[in-house]
Amino acid sequence: MALRDAYNRTIRDLRISLTDRCNFRCFYCLPDGEPAMARKDTLLSFEEIEYAADVFVSLGIEKIRLTGGEPLIRRDVPKLVEKLVKLKPGLKDIALTTNGFDFPRHAEALKLAGLDRVTISLDSLDSANFAEITGIDAFDRTIEAIDAAKRYGFEPVKLNAVIVRGRNDHELVDFARFARDRAVSMRFIEFMPLDSGHGWDRNMVVSGREIRDAIESVFPLERVGDSRGSETAWKYRFADGAPGEIGIIAPVTEMFCGQCSRIRLTADGQIRTCLFSTKEHDLRGIIRSGAARSEVVAFIEAAVLQKEPRHYINDPSFTPASRTMSFIGG
Ligand code: SAM
Repeated sequence: MALRDAYNRTIRDLRISLTDRCNFRCFYCLPDGEPAMARKDTLLSFEEIEYAADVFVSLGIEKIRLTGGEPLIRRDVPKLVEKLVKLKPGLKDIALTTNGFDFPRHAEALKLAGLDRVTISLDSLDSANFAEITGIDAFDRTIEAIDAAKRYGFEPVKLNAVIVRGRNDHELVDFARFARDRAVSMRFIEFMPLDSGHGWDRNMVVSGREIRDAIESVFPLERVGDSRGSETAWKYRFADGAPGEIGIIAPVTEMFCGQCSRIRLTADGQIRTCLFSTKEHDLRGIIRSGAARSEVVAFIEAAVLQKEPRHYINDPSFTPASRTMSFIGG
């Protein structure tokens, strides 16, 4: 069984947002204080998420990533992971994206529950710059989270940095050195127009090409594999054989929509077929109406058939997404 869209792309990856709330205020995501939050009764319960995930896996979803907002703000995430693990072996991989703030105290429980992988956001290696970018003085805690992820065996530990001109692009070589020293996968993401402050400007985007060139001026890289498959990142190893890896995610300057295998479920139960969708599909409404499983399946299949062919960030007619990143789930 496989979910296929109208452009013959197979959908294997589901990102589930557990909450639209976040304890960070990253300027490129959620800069303007607390936005209107989804009403609590609109949030999917863990039982509803489990049910939806079960249906998605029966339709061929192989990877689930829990995200947000900050997913670890939600209580009992390890319990949800334990439930999702029961969907294996159809489900092959359960991952979490977090800012790391609460990760150390949950790391052991998440490992025991069966979480496979973790990605931690790390936007600066300078604690003052980190605080400026994220709005919170939590650099040491993020480093603790990275150490905890390694200690509990969430290998390979992936770190995400959104690179924005004038804010952290001067740290690219430091990040690469950090990847080597800590033997982690350091991934650089181009800034996308998904910030709630609508401050995105094309001049702030540091292209994947520029990122690679800056790193290569000090640490020559070799690309891993000829194709990216349905992954978002081009991967590179260090040519001198040092440990660690570099990943470059360039959705703005090197669009990869043709290979997209992703679909998203927001915390309030809306299916989004693209980060930049202007339309959502109300799965929560269908589930809560007491619909039969076959109707839920038909609803998901119909939603996937409406998956957008590509994003339009680079078109003059670009219309911003109907919701911003912290609501969508990155
Ligand atoms: N709170 C978690 C975290 O900090 O990783 C998970 C949610 S966060 C929205 C997921 C990822 O989206 C993070 O790596 C974040 O840096 C990235 N992100 C947020 N806004 C972005 C933007 N405007 N452009 C590119 N990436 C963005």
